[in-house]
Amino acid sequence: MNIILLGPPGAGKGTQAQRLVERHGLKQLSTGDMLRAAVKAGTAVGLQAKAVMDAGELVSDDIVSALIGEELDAMSPDTGAIFDGYPRTAPQAASLASILSDRGRRLDHVIELDVDEDALVERITGRYTCATCGKGYHDRFERPAIEGTCDKCGGHEFKRRPDDNEATVRTRMAEYRAKTAPILPIYDAQGIVSHIDGMADMDTVTAAIEAIIA
Ligand code: ADP
Ligand code: ADP
Ligand code: ZN
Repeated sequence: MNIILLGPPGAGKGTQAQRLVERHGLKQLSTGDMLRAAVKAGTAVGLQAKAVMDAGELVSDDIVSALIGEELDAMSPDTGAIFDGYPRTAPQAASLASILSDRGRRLDHVIELDVDEDALVERITGRYTCATCGKGYHDRFERPAIEGTCDKCGGHEFKRRPDDNEATVRTRMAEYRAKTAPILPIYDAQGIVSHIDGMADMDTVTAAIEAIIA
């Protein structure tokens, strides 16, 4: 099974991808996470990507498509993939089609999370993750059961992304509207797109995704 989760920043892609990983043993392929790891490691890709990410603009298509190809090559062919934050442009969608077919994979579902942009600013500015295991949280919408302790790994350190501020979020949303939303018709033509109400609570969104992939 190979699935794309589509939606603007803060729509809930990462949250839902983490749940699919736990329930179905799929692997989450987040180009955002890969790029942040490259920035942290100080690789050539990271050095090139950092300023672009801080500005909320898109990193070059060639870089992200290469990262996706490498990750798929490192996976067992039997493990399904959830693409989170990729593809984001028409050239990336075209690259993904050949990346998948080269590896004998096909795309089963493209799930779009429909959301209200104004609510997304609150989601993004309240977002943080466990520094140890990466589990996502939110100041208002998803707090750990014990304050200061990660539900998943028991870690006590949390972090926030430098690009999760209101000004950058507005740029990221504009990028989504201009470059990412226009790729939907490609997948519509293949009859594999489903729309979900991303404003529903997290469990309702998860149930809707489960119903699509069942
Ligand atoms: P979000 O959680 O807002 O959806 P991501 O973690 O997916 O954000 O991405 C963070 C940043 O990394 C983006 O603003 C962009 O600069 C870069 N990025 C991530 N994925 C891609 C991609 N597929 N193409 C281009 N840039 C990307
Ligand atoms: P994306 O990966 O699409 O950028 P995230 O999954 O990181 O989005 O979600 C952004 C923030 O909003 C996170 O802090 C997350 O805990 C919270 N969140 C995710 N889904 C929901 C939801 N359905 N209702 C309320 N808050 C949510
Ligand atoms: Zn943790």
